[in-house]
Amino acid sequence: MFTTTPFSAWDLKPGLQQGLVNMGWEFSTQVQKDTIPLAIDGRDVIGQARTGSGKTAAFGLPTMNACQPIGKLQALLLTPTRELANQVAEEMNTIQGDNGLTILTVYGGTDLEKQARNLAKGVDIIVGTPGRVMDMCERGHIDLSSPSIFVLDEADRMLDMGFFPDIMWVIEKMTARKQTLLFSATFPQEIIDAANEFMNDPEFVLTNTEKLDIPPIDQYSVRIGRANKLWVIGRLLCRMNDEDQTLVFANTKRMVDLLVQRLNKHRFNVEGLHGDLNQNQREKIIGKFRNGDSKIVIATDVAARGIDVDGITLVVNYDVPDDVDNYVHRIGRTGRIGRKGEAWTLVGRDDIPQLNKIIATHSLEIIESEAPDLPEGIDRDPVKLQEDNGEAADVFGMVPIKVETTSFSKLGLSDLLLASLKCPEIAIGDIIINVDHSVVEVHNRHASLAVRALNSKDLSASIINN
Ligand code: ADP
Ligand code: MG
Repeated sequence: MFTTTPFSAWDLKPGLQQGLVNMGWEFSTQVQKDTIPLAIDGRDVIGQARTGSGKTAAFGLPTMNACQPIGKLQALLLTPTRELANQVAEEMNTIQGDNGLTILTVYGGTDLEKQARNLAKGVDIIVGTPGRVMDMCERGHIDLSSPSIFVLDEADRMLDMGFFPDIMWVIEKMTARKQTLLFSATFPQEIIDAANEFMNDPEFVLTNTEKLDIPPIDQYSVRIGRANKLWVIGRLLCRMNDEDQTLVFANTKRMVDLLVQRLNKHRFNVEGLHGDLNQNQREKIIGKFRNGDSKIVIATDVAARGIDVDGITLVVNYDVPDDVDNYVHRIGRTGRIGRKGEAWTLVGRDDIPQLNKIIATHSLEIIESEAPDLPEGIDRDPVKLQEDNGEAADVFGMVPIKVETTSFSKLGLSDLLLASLKCPEIAIGDIIINVDHSVVEVHNRHASLAVRALNSKDLSASIINN
């Protein structure tokens, strides 16, 4: 992860060097090594590197190096989300130590007038989201003709979220722009095309143009029906120790809410994160997660964008993601810089094709596994295992049961089942008598009882899982 090139090798201001020393950062990461010297020289740079590889400092350091603490806007940094704007500003503030640069965030969902008053006191660097920056510019609170440095973080997500027209609007107003830095985990062709229009002979530092970088973590899948996904989560969560943090992904807001409810009921302290929460609630939850006060967050893909929490050692896919790239974005939340991590994906029968597609697309190694054992010292499952034949059932809910007998006719077997289950006739499906055994179909609701009833008559029955 780290290179052998120390930050001290570069011509950074003493204040910044001291800031890095204070943080205990000595060696640069690959993307930092490849881009920082170019950016210090004033070149335009396009940097691609996987999530968690240190892109923030790669653009943050050269940007701060070029700015003076004079209260005049010298650099504008745009990010796709408010959370990310906060993270970038925070990281830059930590790195700058006593440099005295005023770095302010500008984003929607918070009091515009208050932001305007802060800006009016003097600002050197703005980190913002496109919409609010445009708004503040039109109202005269931000003078876009002032900054000479322009930075775009997570350019691919900006494109996804439809921000490119806004970005072009901003760029046109930045008449003093001398240097442009673009950073992203992926560079779709549209971005490269756009970049060529507004950048000046940019230097490409691309690690991997084709596929997303896969973090070096252990990946597992557990084949499990819906009814018992929570049981597996219970097993996974009770293995965690005090420093570990977990991010669980679900595909819908509703599922996030349900999981929060049910896990809280099982005495796990979890928080949910999705797009229906307002800005304050989201920031509070992310803040608590980042400083370690909360250990487990359940989130949708969109809500988890840009979450950068170093303590995340476990990512769980409660649902298999619908989008193949989202799998990599999700697991990229763990294994950040030199940490070990695990990703577990819970896979129902109907999810298998999607998981196979994900594996094939990114050439992944995902180990098929059972749910982990209970850790030493814990002898009870946090969530009880339920009887579940749903995985064996067909689309009509019929479960095939193998019966080790050939001495009954179809009618005989059907009568026997109807009598012992006291179920409606429709709950019994096809019955096949083979040479050495028979197969009866019974509706999911009655299948376990049917197995017990047949076994009690010494007919040795078992559910056929395929
Ligand atoms: P990216 O933007 O590429 O996803 P970040 O910039 O968020 O990655 O960096 C990931 C983590 O690594 C952050 O917590 C950051 O503080 C830390 N980090 C970055 N560069 C270094 C470095 N050279 N030494 C130590 N930690 C670093
Ligand atoms: Mg980043």
